[in-house]
Amino acid sequence: MNGHFAAVDNGNGSAPDSNAHNFEHGIQVINEDKQYNTNLNDYLHETHVAEAGFNYHLISVFGSQSTGKSTLLNHLFGTQFSVMSERERRQTTKGIWMSKNKKEGTMADNILVMDVEGTDGRERGEDQDFERKSALFALATSEVLIVNIWEHQVGLYQGANMGLLKTVFEVNMQLFLKDKQNQTRSLLFFVIRDHIGVTPLANLRNTLIQDLTHIWSSISKPAGLENSKIEDYFDFAFAALPHKILQPDKFITEVENLGSRFTAGHRNKDSESTDDQEFTGGVFLPEYHRRIPADGLSIYAEGIWDQIVSNKDLDLPTQQELLAQFRCDEIAREVQIAFDAAIAPLEEQQAESTRAGKPAVLPDLGQIGAEAREKCVKNFETQASRYHKGVYTTKRSELEDKIDTRLKALYQAHLTAAHKAGVTAFSEAVTNAVKAGQKAGGAYEFAEIVEKQKTKTLEIFKKEAQSLAIPGVAWSNFKPQYLIFEKELDEVSARLRKEEMRRLAIRVERWVKSRLGDAIGLEFNKLGSGRGGSGAPESGEKPSTEKDIWDRVWKAFISIVGEAEGRFTDRAKSFEASDDEVQVGLWRLRRKSWVALREKIEEEVMESNILMKLRENFEDKFRYDEDGVPRIWRPSDDIEGIYTRARESTLGLVPLLARFRLQSSGSPPDLIEFIGVQPHGVEPGDEEDLTPIGGVDEDEGKSLEEETTILSEPKRQDLVVRFKKMADGVYVEAKRSAIGGITQ
Ligand code: GDP
Ligand code: MG
Repeated sequence: MNGHFAAVDNGNGSAPDSNAHNFEHGIQVINEDKQYNTNLNDYLHETHVAEAGFNYHLISVFGSQSTGKSTLLNHLFGTQFSVMSERERRQTTKGIWMSKNKKEGTMADNILVMDVEGTDGRERGEDQDFERKSALFALATSEVLIVNIWEHQVGLYQGANMGLLKTVFEVNMQLFLKDKQNQTRSLLFFVIRDHIGVTPLANLRNTLIQDLTHIWSSISKPAGLENSKIEDYFDFAFAALPHKILQPDKFITEVENLGSRFTAGHRNKDSESTDDQEFTGGVFLPEYHRRIPADGLSIYAEGIWDQIVSNKDLDLPTQQELLAQFRCDEIAREVQIAFDAAIAPLEEQQAESTRAGKPAVLPDLGQIGAEAREKCVKNFETQASRYHKGVYTTKRSELEDKIDTRLKALYQAHLTAAHKAGVTAFSEAVTNAVKAGQKAGGAYEFAEIVEKQKTKTLEIFKKEAQSLAIPGVAWSNFKPQYLIFEKELDEVSARLRKEEMRRLAIRVERWVKSRLGDAIGLEFNKLGSGRGGSGAPESGEKPSTEKDIWDRVWKAFISIVGEAEGRFTDRAKSFEASDDEVQVGLWRLRRKSWVALREKIEEEVMESNILMKLRENFEDKFRYDEDGVPRIWRPSDDIEGIYTRARESTLGLVPLLARFRLQSSGSPPDLIEFIGVQPHGVEPGDEEDLTPIGGVDEDEGKSLEEETTILSEPKRQDLVVRFKKMADGVYVEAKRSAIGGITQ
């Protein structure tokens, strides 16, 4: 459909010699071979009309050959159209020429004048074809048609001019056939030449209007327009000029007067008349304007001419839409050049940094992007909005989509980079602050550190996200990304808190171990004193017996673990661990503490250790009397009896120590109750480092009985044998010392 437009180059410097054109005489838009001159665009650019938008006007002149048309235009507008030389009487204007008004001054801005080849049988032989085509072309483009006519031709209905006007009216009907909605009208401006002055202009006007009405009624009108009136399409204006050669001074003055009418004007309200006396101001009424932006005029005119030359029905609305598509695409390409210059380097930088695995956070991206977008869209709007509204709106959103797709990709990658960098920075900052706190003696508040760093990191991200926002552009709201970022920070916080919990757990476990080491060691050391328990009756405590060793161990254990639990809970709460997390921590702590206790007990009952304790216990009973005074053995002493009692008493400890039994209940401590049920929130992997506990972890196949068995049967027997041997040795020594004491 728009093949014609697609084939046309935009004319912007496309002609290699475009600057070499000599536009002194204007430009020949259509040559004698009916070819269109695409350099028109260059001409419009060179004369700065192209940038004028709608602020330009187009006038065409019609009339028989050699009626002084070119002469008139040259005087009116300072143009340099070729004029027939006085001597040669040879027609010079060929085809259609265009020139910009060179006088300006008080006249309207940017008046373009088309000098149309004289329409007279003689000028182009019998070529009525060109007459029709040029009339159609002028009507489709021009606001004002100057009809140049000798005074003596007025009223000569058969005159050549009337033939021309008939043609104009007919092609006009043809135009409106396709464009019934079109409100544009044209002004037929009759300039009567060689006005002698005998007949007043008013009379000439009346005659002309009569003739025009006559011609109008004589043309065949297409169906639907049979009753249309000439006033529906045309306004009329009239002027008379004196003889240029006979009254040169008057001619000049009158031409000047005429020139002053080429300004903007408007129709007087309530006036139905088409008479120029009903206008205020100049001849350029807004409704005459064809609303083709100046920078599209060349393309439009070319399309029109193309249709005319190939004898196709002129369809102006379609032509305008095609023009709009062509120009909007062209303008879109142009405005994207600046956008590309601003954005492409950023895209490259981002792509490069991503390839390098270190996505960059581009500085000032939001500002650069918003500015480039705004400029691009504004520039498009300024130029393209003058074209067909529907086409413009579509092309504008196409353009926005195109640049937004690029910006969006850029922004999203940018925020992804900011997200990654933010998470890393946050996690590093928290870890470092914790390390610094640990170095400084552990007096740090984990929750405070996290909160402070989170606020700081979120603020940075928020600023980054907000800097990308473009007012009124929905996709540039990155709140969802911000929320995702915040969520991830919370996840990272949770992970870091878990690590912190681990560290706390380790610290508390160490503390439990150390306390257990002291307390349990103390209890076992008491075994070394054979006189029953504490060995410190002066302390005022009720002396305990060896029999309640496990009660004391358990009591010390419970008390240490209880204190540890308190410490753990306080600390964990201080960094806002959840209840579940605290419960899991406590559960683990109790298990680990029990295991630590078992280890400590095992250490105490290691063969050499326990043997030593038993020996001390035995020796204490054997070598000291009830008052704690060392015995000096005499032969008369019942060494054997004392020995046997002491030995049996100590041996009695072995089964006691062999099993962790509370004296109070006669059974092992209730480990199931002590450890408690596994709380919610224990994640897979949490238990991996936990030693199974018999009787508690049922599937471990180990009973509570086994868990609380301290010395196995073989170990027990072995211990008894070794102890007896050792005791025997002590006995023999005592015997010897008793005998020796006598001999001395
Ligand atoms: P065009 O063919 O209509 O463009 O006419 P030109 O402007 O080339 O002029 C044709 C001839 O008419 C030239 O010899 C002019 O000198 C002459 N001419 C120009 N203006 C006037 C005028 O106002 N009155 C008369 N009688 N001759 C004129
Ligand atoms: Mg001429």
